[in-house]
Amino acid sequence: MELKPCPFCGRKSARIAYKTVDRTDSNGKLGTRSERYKIYCSSCPGQTSWGFYVEDVAEAWNRRANDV
Ligand SMILES: [Zn+2]
Repeated sequence: MELKPCPFCGRKSARIAYKTVDRTDSNGKLGTRSERYKIYCSSCPGQTSWGFYVEDVAEAWNRRANDV
């Protein structure tokens, strides 16, 4: 998977961020743990929103790059 240059500053500074989100049920018990991804730029504040799949956020990033 290839990330295009940043649509905001034009640098090849795209990075993939990753986090896990713990969900608790109504009793406060730990439920499923799910993952979130986003693409951000290490040279400027440009970033995508958090998504469930790295492919999706990469696509959003690349599509945005095309729009500019
Ligand atoms: Zn940037």
